[in-house]
Amino acid sequence: MRHNPKIHLPERIARLEEVAYNLWWSWNLSARGLFKTIDRTLWQETHHNPVAVLVKCRREVLDAKAKDPAFLQWYDSVVAQFDEYMKDPKPWFKAKHPEARGSVAYFSAEFGVHNSLPIYSGGLGILAGDHCKTASDLGIPLNGVGFMYPQGYVQQRVGVEGWQQNIYEMIDWSSSPVRPALTPDGQPCFLRLNLGGWPLQVAVFRIDVGRVPLLLMDTNVEGNDPGDREISGRLYGGDQTMRLRQEIVLGIGGVRVLRALGVDPEVWHANEGHAAFLLLERIRERVEAGLSFEAAREEVSRSTLFTTHTPVAAGHDVFPEELIEQYFKNYWPSLGLDKEQFMALARTGGKPGWNMSALALRLAGRANGVSRRNGVVAREMWKDLWPGKPVDEIPISHVTNGVHLPTWLSQRMSELYATHLAADWRKRQDDPAMWAKIDEVPDETLWATHLRCKRDLLNFLRGQVRNRWKADRVDPTQVLAGGALLDPDALTIGFARRFARYKRATLILHDLERLKKLLLDPWRPVQLVFAGKAHPADDGGKQLIQQVYKLAKDPAIGGRIAFVEDYDMHKARYLVQGVDLWLNNPLFPLEACGTSGQKAAANGVPNLSILDGWWEEGYTRENGWAPKGSEGLPDEERDAADAAAIYSVLEEQIVPLFFERNQKGIPAGWVRVMKQSIKTTAPQYCSDRMLKDYSEKLYFLAREAAVAAR
Ligand SMILES: *Cc1c(COP(=O)(O)O)cnc(C)c1O
Repeated sequence: MRHNPKIHLPERIARLEEVAYNLWWSWNLSARGLFKTIDRTLWQETHHNPVAVLVKCRREVLDAKAKDPAFLQWYDSVVAQFDEYMKDPKPWFKAKHPEARGSVAYFSAEFGVHNSLPIYSGGLGILAGDHCKTASDLGIPLNGVGFMYPQGYVQQRVGVEGWQQNIYEMIDWSSSPVRPALTPDGQPCFLRLNLGGWPLQVAVFRIDVGRVPLLLMDTNVEGNDPGDREISGRLYGGDQTMRLRQEIVLGIGGVRVLRALGVDPEVWHANEGHAAFLLLERIRERVEAGLSFEAAREEVSRSTLFTTHTPVAAGHDVFPEELIEQYFKNYWPSLGLDKEQFMALARTGGKPGWNMSALALRLAGRANGVSRRNGVVAREMWKDLWPGKPVDEIPISHVTNGVHLPTWLSQRMSELYATHLAADWRKRQDDPAMWAKIDEVPDETLWATHLRCKRDLLNFLRGQVRNRWKADRVDPTQVLAGGALLDPDALTIGFARRFARYKRATLILHDLERLKKLLLDPWRPVQLVFAGKAHPADDGGKQLIQQVYKLAKDPAIGGRIAFVEDYDMHKARYLVQGVDLWLNNPLFPLEACGTSGQKAAANGVPNLSILDGWWEEGYTRENGWAPKGSEGLPDEERDAADAAAIYSVLEEQIVPLFFERNQKGIPAGWVRVMKQSIKTTAPQYCSDRMLKDYSEKLYFLAREAAVAAR
């Protein structure tokens, strides 16, 4: 392990550094607690970043800890857990495939592993982070490949008028769990690319996620053109040229990084089209070694999986062919292709335009969507790439997304599951029989645990606005808008996700008078907590935020709507754990999967969601609600119909059920839905199930085919 010169630890607790440098702590409550007790204030100031805590902590404090028996006992136990986790001799994958040797390379433009590494924007990145954590848990050998983004993704501040301000801050990598990636001879890994006369240097860093290394490229390297140093500057910033350059670095650079580090994956997995150039680069390697393009293509195809998410054609990257020509004119000869053949690889419908998803679908041997519905939509959307094939035979399957429960469950619920279901529930997450035991948990125990999570959320939100009030002297109405008036007894509905149009954040505001009756009911009040960022260039999304924010400030709403600034993984955890009901109302069928509802459901927070994405397969009639409104209606009538259906189900079913209390003051009917929610969603939509599906249905078959062809 390389030592961070800024960290000076007493010998007795020296391994804190090693633990801090492995994101394993992000899903181990005991390890997180240990770093927190070193210095609570620093823990908060550093956004729960153990490396930064160790860098900033005063030496006297650490010396005192090294002599504190209670701390030492805790330290020893965390180190022992860490060693046991890292050395686990028989994780699931090894037991299942003792003969397997190779590994999976998982490429993604974003990774949401922990809040202190803001290299994700939303669901796609969180999925990638959960994928890596779960591969580590199950012992699936996997390397993540992505970007560093020195400025991360946009931070959100909302001004007094409700307008989103975009803030970027340089991340201090020397206080992050990030280190240079080393080549087999111990040198920092460094790449030189040269495409179409465009020279570029790339530095490579490494983050350890349990047993899984994440390899992240950074172009902010001395000697690069100032513009090029910005390539990895921001996630989803910049124009089309910048984006193409990013994708060249991700796909082509990523393959070369693995080669330089001596990693030879057997399975290559592109998470969304951003990484599709990895296919070209691997074909080029084989053509250079003497194969024909067709033979090379076949080999590469057999060992590649492409996961598509976006169900709107316009959501896929399409670059002008002139731009592609500029960067690839020296590249296509090395594939043995001429310009026409090269461009044809990524066209759709014979029209000019370089479509990254079309490229990936043409060249990858396997492809999947991320829910059953998303698979159907993808087959329909891409059927022209397989002319003459019936739609249901288009070779795009699906694996429905899941969530990493150790990351997303509250500490309180984890403990309840450990007590009542199984002490080792983490190892049996996808076992429905274990989760069925939730029925034996006394109603009052489950309800009391939920109420504590709800209190944690409301305290957290008050703490947030208190800090803003103190530090930034914001307007008092902003303190109210941030949730200061939220009521622990009101039915609390959460809506939090990116403010992309199709997610329709303001749908529930459609008929304000009808909504107000629900919010302002004196005996059975309802309140709404919103959070989410708009893409920094999306003024439409910012207007939706403004609409919510204005209501949150409006005395006529009485503080029953709150908008929580700067949605991120940390706030997501509080929200999915602490609200009573999780709302999702995308425009069908545009929700690829939606994972926040899965996080909520596993915490005992039922879903109220349009039947789209995962909910179309997850909804059982007893584990939540699925208002049906707009199917088959013309577009302009759909919002009104869906909103009306949501109001009706709230008025007629949800609110009465929530407020109906038995003699002990427990909403027994509601708790029944909570239990259904937990036992039907946790085993099915945990990421253990997802990774096992990938491994058995997509990776492993690809592996067998690759081996058979040798
Ligand atoms: C889970 C999560 C998402 C994904 O939410 P969807 O329900 O898929 O829209 C987005 N952002 C954060 C911070 C999350 O934790």
